[in-house]
Amino acid sequence: MNGALRMLDKIKGGLFGVAIGDALGGTTEFMSQEEINAEYGTLTEIVGGGYWNLQPGDITDDTEMTIAVVKGLMANSNNPIDEIGKQFLRWEQTNPKDIGITIRRVFQNYHGDWFQAAEHTHRQLNGKSAGNGSLMRCLPIALAYSDVEKMKEITTLQSNMTHYDELAAEACVIYNSIAGRVLGGEALKSAILTEIKGTRYEGLYEVEPDCLPDGFVVHTFKWVLYWLLTCDTFEEVVVGAANKGHDSDTVAAIAGGLKGLEVGCSNLPVRYKAALLCRKELEAYGNILRLIRDKDTRAIKKELDRTFVDLVGKAKKLKDMVERDAYKNGSGESLLSDMKDDIYLCRLSFDDDDLQYDKKLLTWRQVENRYIRSKRLFDLGAPKIIIHHEVNWLLTMITHMVERHKGNDPQFTLDQLEELANAD
Ligand SMILES: [Mg+2]
Repeated sequence: MNGALRMLDKIKGGLFGVAIGDALGGTTEFMSQEEINAEYGTLTEIVGGGYWNLQPGDITDDTEMTIAVVKGLMANSNNPIDEIGKQFLRWEQTNPKDIGITIRRVFQNYHGDWFQAAEHTHRQLNGKSAGNGSLMRCLPIALAYSDVEKMKEITTLQSNMTHYDELAAEACVIYNSIAGRVLGGEALKSAILTEIKGTRYEGLYEVEPDCLPDGFVVHTFKWVLYWLLTCDTFEEVVVGAANKGHDSDTVAAIAGGLKGLEVGCSNLPVRYKAALLCRKELEAYGNILRLIRDKDTRAIKKELDRTFVDLVGKAKKLKDMVERDAYKNGSGESLLSDMKDDIYLCRLSFDDDDLQYDKKLLTWRQVENRYIRSKRLFDLGAPKIIIHHEVNWLLTMITHMVERHKGNDPQFTLDQLEELANAD
């Protein structure tokens, strides 16, 4: 593997590591070690269930907020905080099953200024805002910036926008500094020992920390360091964290991110990667993060251009599958869910300063709307004629979106206009 490929493999390993830890530990969140032993023996597989009644391979807020940070970095890699904030709001609008205590309050207190909302929340919680919610999502910043000072600055800001207590930002900076060293080729254990030296985390990790692996960032991070310093393989790290319970998904996600970074995506257990429902999304975000790291804006644009073209190809293929009656047994659904990530990537290519921004956004919303309707018809097992009609509209709107992306002004046919006018 050459240097560039190895870097990409590490970046993807970090993202997959977070998601695998989250998906595995999500099953045992809020349980005690004894309860886990009684129910699962030792949990080693991604099986879903648990408090959140997860689908096998489903992830929780840890990965979802990590992805929100990636999307913010994609939208403005130089100054991403506002965009990260927008992505947090978008995420909240999806009505997530789990939002941590601190972040839930911050959303309630947000009226246009994240830092004020964080400070207000800190006072409401009687000074207890040092949750692990900013640590669990901060890794993409280390992946995106090779400039250490810039990485530390953005890492601190992304923590402060929800977590006022300096303990949270402190842990994020140490964590991402370790990640930076590993990306630069250092071994994980030595990178950890270098970065914790002289901090509150310096110490012996030969025995288990004398605190619960709960949501307080200092406790969480001590357990993360314990797993990373005492285990040798990725599997040992995430299985260890998942089987301790409490905030197991977050501890496993944070530890899994660094260990995944060290070993690289190609060396992660195949069965874990294959189990993740969001694996294709993570692949795509890994590619983009590497381009951001290389400050290769032309390549980012090319990657996004390719996504538009791919999306048209997929929509045509889907329509063709429906016409040939080859869309049943999940193959149509699987192609459709592939398209979801591309649709999101396309949305991120719009620039607020673009004079055509409103029109592009409107067309994109129509694409999203047609996507959601198609998905629902597939889920309902609707008759072919109805699915075909909707999939045809999806293709039309995607084609319009691509034309707008090229700077053209696509028009509906008279028949299409008539149908749109008659729709309620
Ligand atoms: Mg979670």
